[in-house]
Amino acid sequence: MKLCDRCHLRPAFVYQPHTKMALCRKCFIEDVTERVKAEVRRWNMIEPGDVILLALSGGKDGYTLLDVMSRIYRPDKLIGLNIVEGIRGYNKEEDAKHLVSTAKQLGVDVIVTSVKDYAGLSIDEMASLAKERRTRISVCTYCGISRRRIMNAYARELGANKLATAHNLDDEAQTAVINLARGDLDSLLRQHPLGELVRDRRLVRRIKPLRKVYESETATFAYLRGYHLQETECPYIYEQPTLRAKIRRALYSLESERPGSLLALMELLDELLEPLAKSRRPFTGLSSCARCGEPVPPGRTLCKLCELLDGLGVKEPKYATLRVPGRLNVRPWSV
Ligand SMILES: [Zn+2]
Ligand SMILES: [Zn+2]
Repeated sequence: MKLCDRCHLRPAFVYQPHTKMALCRKCFIEDVTERVKAEVRRWNMIEPGDVILLALSGGKDGYTLLDVMSRIYRPDKLIGLNIVEGIRGYNKEEDAKHLVSTAKQLGVDVIVTSVKDYAGLSIDEMASLAKERRTRISVCTYCGISRRRIMNAYARELGANKLATAHNLDDEAQTAVINLARGDLDSLLRQHPLGELVRDRRLVRRIKPLRKVYESETATFAYLRGYHLQETECPYIYEQPTLRAKIRRALYSLESERPGSLLALMELLDELLEPLAKSRRPFTGLSSCARCGEPVPPGRTLCKLCELLDGLGVKEPKYATLRVPGRLNVRPWSV
């Protein structure tokens, strides 16, 4: 029986290609937790007293985020948010229930809401209207823009001063390579933990605590902790931009051939971009969407969500004010 390369006490259970170590369950969980903690400290992602909204999808990344954050920070200062997209066959009620009860055991309240509740249309309804009207806008765009808006609106209304998403290392590396291929320095800087390009009191600061954790590791982590994962694949997956799909495949094969490549890439970018990210003063002159009042870059009349809905024939969008069920565990900050 092979023993764990770290503690030399317990049987090895997980092989970690990027460190070439075989770890026992306990050491693996600790390794991931410590890496997140180090990343959070390095960039000062969390300050004492922060109230943090966790965006939780019910998949492996979300569960890992929930679990690790409840270990490294105060669970009573965390709130989970689960957004039901309204995609037939994809959103299952039992998945949301499981997420809520698991989080409760870790001391975190989860709010479940839906795109339809907030914007009046579900993603399926947006998709079919888009098809009818031949907007040529992909379903992933409607979904991404809606979810981003809902996350920010909830964080703001609940008095959370940070919004944590469950993006993992693979996600971040894919985005970085896309940005590099496009020569898009602004987007690269925006990905950097210190890259605050825009500041506005209506926008809640986003953090990505799992940015140095491989996707395969969040899968292993969630499995080892026995979490019930949402396993259905999104039926709109074929709608995803093809460039990202290609880069995902290329990075996957690079990583299997040279384990640790993605981590090395992101470490290097972090280091190279740090001075630049620090020297940029955030832009503070955003204006307001003529329909909903959400922040928009100067010169734009409508925010992205209003613009998308306008294209679907919704000229007077009514975004729901928040309905927060029951009493929350957290005492939100007054803002
Ligand atoms: Zn061990
Ligand atoms: Zn708007």
